[in-house]
Amino acid sequence: MKKISILGSTGSIGTQTLDVIAMHPDAFEVDGLSAGSNTALLLEQVRRFKPRRVSVSTKELAEEIRSSLPSGVELFSGNEGMVEIAAGGEADTVVTAVMGSVGLRSTLAAIEAGRHIGLANKETLVTAGHLVTELAERKGVQLLPVDSEHSAIFQCLNGENREDIACITLTASGGSFRDYTRDQLKHVTVADALRHPNWSMGAKITIDSATMVNKGLEVIEAHWLFGLPYEQIQVLLHPESIIHSYVEFRDSSIIAQLGNPDMRVPIQYALTYPDRWASPAKRLSLAEAQRLTFREMDYERFPALKLAIECGKAGGTATTAFNAANEIAVARFLRDEIPFVRIEEIIEKVLQQHEPAAHPNLEQIEECDRAARELASKL
Ligand code: NDP
Ligand code: MG
Repeated sequence: MKKISILGSTGSIGTQTLDVIAMHPDAFEVDGLSAGSNTALLLEQVRRFKPRRVSVSTKELAEEIRSSLPSGVELFSGNEGMVEIAAGGEADTVVTAVMGSVGLRSTLAAIEAGRHIGLANKETLVTAGHLVTELAERKGVQLLPVDSEHSAIFQCLNGENREDIACITLTASGGSFRDYTRDQLKHVTVADALRHPNWSMGAKITIDSATMVNKGLEVIEAHWLFGLPYEQIQVLLHPESIIHSYVEFRDSSIIAQLGNPDMRVPIQYALTYPDRWASPAKRLSLAEAQRLTFREMDYERFPALKLAIECGKAGGTATTAFNAANEIAVARFLRDEIPFVRIEEIIEKVLQQHEPAAHPNLEQIEECDRAARELASKL
């Protein structure tokens, strides 16, 4: 039995991870679950999956659910609670499915404790990629990508030599406003932005897809996961989301990973790697798909992508500030406080005022994250 803990069990990736676990009850058991504030769903998950340890985002919420938990289940709260789920207990693999850089300390704690990581929480790699990857290397811990593009690249690189890579290409669906002009973006609503054409995901990443910030975060994530310079990471618009990403090798061969969009496939692969197990995902028929289309990425139309890559190349705390500013701007947009196009402007303004530090330690990262959030809240 493989023991799994999930940070963010009540979210889109968290619930789909539990779907995968439920499909293989003889292979997986749940050790710990950490949620934010959706206690009703967490309690349902506790009844069904019988974890030994759970955590919620505040002490108050913990007190609310204490009497509803089966006896023997350990209860934690706050960021320390998330660290307890990540590093305490007996999990073999921790799936980091929490949203945002709030997952950084618990991800580091899980690695420190020698747990393998099923990594969905890309913001941790964007905010502090050097700390996460250095620690994973030192501890001999595998960072197994859950993000569909990175899982695709990871699969394409199976058995290949790194020196043979010419470049990798991350595909992008284009998000909810793929065919809008910049002018049309001025009047879009939150409801419009939350309507993603191909994927059903959490609210924040759906907005990130519409601004193309998500692809920017993914380029930075790929830089850290695969140890490639930014010059070797490309982005291509592919509206159908069938080719999840691909690698071109120096002999000009291209290896791609394809499938219908279904996050349970990359989630399961992160849990079963290096094996492949059966999945109920709908099989892809290329005959049915008939044609796949592609478009060159337009960096003027999606300036946040360009900005993210520039931050990646600048390194240090630049990506930390980028991520924190985006998290706040997206939260403000979702609360209807600012128009959609303000998200990019806020990120840009925060970066203009940011003085990047090279090789930041954890405290510097957290201070930068805090300062960028404060500024982004005021702008
Ligand atoms: P959701 O918003 O659906 O879920 C986020 C989870 O994090 C929820 O369980 C939420 O708890 C929990 N959470 C949020 N804030 C806190 C906090 N302060 N403390 C503790 N827990 C918290 O997000 P997604 O599942 O969509 O995304 C999760 C991560 O996976 C993100 O980094 C995203 O970029 C990445 N990802 C997601 C994909 C997808 O298809 N959804 C695809 C690829 C990557 P609660 O709801 O109980 O408040
Ligand atoms: Mg992705």
